[in-house]
Amino acid sequence: MKVITLCSVICAVLLVGTALPTPEEEYQRYDGHKVYRVTATTREHLHLLKSMEDQAKEGILFWLIGGALNSDTDVMVSPEREDEILSTFETAGMSYKTLIEDVQTLVGNQTPDIEHQSLRAEEVTSSLNWTAYHRLDVIYNWLDELAETYPDLVEVIVIGNSYEGRLIKGIKITFDENNPGIFIEGGMHAREWITPATVTYLTNEILTSTNEAFNLLARAHNWFIFPNTNPDGYEYTHTTNRMWRKTRKPYDNDCWGADPNRNWDYYWLTNGGASNNSCSETYAGSEPFSEVEVKALADYIASVSDKFHIYLSIHSYSQLILLPYGYTYEHLDNYAEALNVGEIAADALAKRYGTEYIVGSTAEAIYIASGTSTDYVKGVHNTPIVYCYEFRDTGTYGFLLPAEQIIPNSLEFIDSLIAVIGETRNLGYPEVHTIG
Ligand SMILES: [Zn+2]
Repeated sequence: MKVITLCSVICAVLLVGTALPTPEEEYQRYDGHKVYRVTATTREHLHLLKSMEDQAKEGILFWLIGGALNSDTDVMVSPEREDEILSTFETAGMSYKTLIEDVQTLVGNQTPDIEHQSLRAEEVTSSLNWTAYHRLDVIYNWLDELAETYPDLVEVIVIGNSYEGRLIKGIKITFDENNPGIFIEGGMHAREWITPATVTYLTNEILTSTNEAFNLLARAHNWFIFPNTNPDGYEYTHTTNRMWRKTRKPYDNDCWGADPNRNWDYYWLTNGGASNNSCSETYAGSEPFSEVEVKALADYIASVSDKFHIYLSIHSYSQLILLPYGYTYEHLDNYAEALNVGEIAADALAKRYGTEYIVGSTAEAIYIASGTSTDYVKGVHNTPIVYCYEFRDTGTYGFLLPAEQIIPNSLEFIDSLIAVIGETRNLGYPEVHTIG
C-alpha cells in the first residue's frame, strides 16, 4: 500500500514534469524589455531602421515599422542590448522616447489568473466572455455553439487548415439570402489579441443586441466573419511567444513564418512594401499565397465576392481607418467617397469615449505596404467599401491592451460600423456595384 502511494506520488511528479516543461524552457519572457518610439526624419534613418529590422537580431523586435519620413517606429529592446541600440539611435541623430518600461508586466496583466505563462491551458468552456483574452479552442467552440443556438441563422464555415493543421474557422450569419453582405477578418497578425476579441464581441451583438439602430442595420445584412485567420500564430502567442506576428511555416535562415498581410497575390512585394528576408517581421513569403491560411481565405473570398459589398480587415494598433491602396500612392476610383465614409465613421467612433482615429489610404496615412488583404479585395474583386482598421491604442500598451478595454474598444468600433453601413447605403451600394 505504501509502495503504491509513493509510486503514485513520484509517477505523478514525473508525468507532470514530462508533460509540462518549466516556464523558462517553454515560454519567452520579456522581463526588463522596453519599447521605444523612434522617429526617422531622414532617408538615412529609414535605411538604418530597415536594416536593423531585416537583420532580426536577438534582443530587438519591431512592433511598428515606420516606412515614411517622420513616421514612428516602435521597437522592443532587451535589457542586454539596450545601451548598444540606444547609442546607435543617438549616433544617427534619431530622437526616441520610452513607450513601455517593462513588457513582461503588461504581458502578465493580460493574463492575471495564470502565474506561469507556459501553463496557459484554458478550459474550453461553452461560452465566451469579453473580460479576458481566450485561446483558439474557446473561440472556435463558441462559434460552434452559435450554430447550435441559432441553426436558422448561423453556419460554421471551415475554409481549410493552417500549416500546423488547425482549422481555419469562421461563420456566416444569414438573415435573408437576398441581403447584401459584410465580410470581416481578424487575427491575421497573431499578437493583435484585441482583434479576435472585438470581432467575436461584434458577432455576439449581431445576434443578441438590444440596440434598435444596430439591430435594424445588422439584420438587413448577411455577415461573413473570421475572427482568427492565423490560428497557428495565435496559439503560438499563447503558448510560447506573446509577441509573435507571422504564420508558423518554417523558412530559411532558421526563421519562421511569413507576414500573412504581405502575402496576397496583388502587387505582391511591390515598391518596397514588404520584405524578401525570411527573418523580417514583414516577410512577404516565398511567393504570393505561399501561406496556406492566406490562400484558403482568398479562395473563400472569391467564392462569395458577389455576396458582400463591405470588407473589413481588423488589426491593431495605432487607431487608424485605412483605405486601400497600400502598394501605391495612387488613389482608389471611389477614393473621395471611401474617405468621406471613413471620416464619418471615425467621428462616430470618437463620440463615445473621445478615441481619435486617423483616416487615409494605407500608403499615405502610414507607409507603402504591399500584398495586403485590403489591396487584394479592392483590386481583384472591386468591393466598393474596403477598410483596414487598426484598433487601440497609440502605444501606451500597444499589442498588450488590457482586457478591460475589449468592451470599450468593441462599443466604439460598433458605433463606427453603424456609420460605415449607413453611409454606404446612402451612397447607393450595393445596387450600383458591378463586379469588375
Ligand atoms: Zn496587424
